[in-house]
Amino acid sequence: WVKSDGRAHWALYDPERIAHRTTRQMLATTMLPALERGEFVVEYQPLVELRGEPGQSSLRGVEALVRWQHPEFGRIGPDRFIGIAEETGAIVPLGRWVLETACAQARTWLEDFPEAELFMSVNLAARQFWDSDVVADVADVLSRTRLPSRLLQLELTESAVLGPAGRPLEALHALEAMGVRIAIDDFGTGYSNLAYLSRLPVHVLKLDGGFLEGFQEGTPAGADEQIVSALVRLAHALGLTVTAEGVETQLQADLLRATGCDSAQGWHFGRAMAAEAITELLAAVPGPSRR
Ligand code: C2E
Ligand code: MG
Ligand code: MG
Ligand code: MG
Repeated sequence: WVKSDGRAHWALYDPERIAHRTTRQMLATTMLPALERGEFVVEYQPLVELRGEPGQSSLRGVEALVRWQHPEFGRIGPDRFIGIAEETGAIVPLGRWVLETACAQARTWLEDFPEAELFMSVNLAARQFWDSDVVADVADVLSRTRLPSRLLQLELTESAVLGPAGRPLEALHALEAMGVRIAIDDFGTGYSNLAYLSRLPVHVLKLDGGFLEGFQEGTPAGADEQIVSALVRLAHALGLTVTAEGVETQLQADLLRATGCDSAQGWHFGRAMAAEAITELLAAVPGPSRR
C-alpha cells in the first residue's frame, strides 16, 4: 500500500526527516546525563565599551555562551540544543549550571583583576523565567559564588518578558531590587514594544545584529543606520543603555560609534572563547589593575 501513495511514502520514510527526528530525540534524552558527566562547557564573548579612548582596554564584560562537547558528535552549538532543552525542561538544571559556572568564573576574575570590574552576562530562557524559581536561584548562586550582584546581567528576549502579567513581572522587580541588571536580547526581532519595555525594570537593550547588515560606506546614512541612531536616542531618553550585537567589521564599529551606541559585541572584537583566553586579555591590560 505504500507504493500506491507516493506522498505518504515520502512523508513517512524520508530518511532526512527521520534522521533529524532521531537526532533531536537522542539529544533530548541524553542531555541531563551529559550534564552530569560534564560534557557542557561555557565560553565567553567580550562585551566592549564603544565610547572609551581608542587604545585603552575597552573590555567591560563577557557573555556566557554554552556549548555541548559531545563525545560522538563533537562540539554542538546552543542553537541546536537550547530549543530542545526548553521543550523537555532540561533548560532549568542546564541554565542553573551555566549561571553558577559563569558567576564562579566572574568571581575569580574579580579577585585576580579587581580594577577590571568585569561583568558577566548570562542568557535566561523563557522557561527558566516562567517555570522555575529564578529569583531564588539567582540569589542562591550570587551568595554561593560571592559575586557582587552589580556584576551580573541577565539576558531575556522580548517574548520571554512580554508574557501574561504576574509572576515574571514580580521576578523582574525582585532581580532589580537585588541589584542585577536586565538586558533585552535580540531586540528588534520581535514586536519591539519599547514604550512598554521602558516601564519594566529593564536596563539594557541588545540590538540584534541584523540591523548592522545595512551599514555601508558613504553618505547619506542608510535606513539601518538611521533606525539604529533613532533607537539609541530613544533608548537613552527612556533611561536604557544600548549594546549592539554581531559587529563583524571595522566599518560597522565606526558607524555604530557615530550613532552613540554604548557598547558592542561581535567577531570584530572577539569570538566566544575559553575562560583562559579572557584571562589572557585581562592580564594584557597595562596599568595597576593586576594583583
Ligand atoms: P545570543 O544570546 O543572541 O548570543 C549571541 C550569538 O551570536 C552567539 O551564538 C554568538 O556566538 C553569536 N555571535 C557573536 N558575535 C557574532 C558576530 O559578529 N556575527 C555573527 N554572525 N554571530 C555572532 P551562539 O553561541 O551560537 O548562541 C546562540 C544562542 O543560543 C544565543 O544567542 C542564546 O540565545 C542561546 N544561548 C547560548 N547560551 C545559552 C545559555 O546558557 N542559556 C540559554 N538560555 N540560552 C543560551
Ligand atoms: Mg544573549
Ligand atoms: Mg543576542
Ligand atoms: Mg541571537
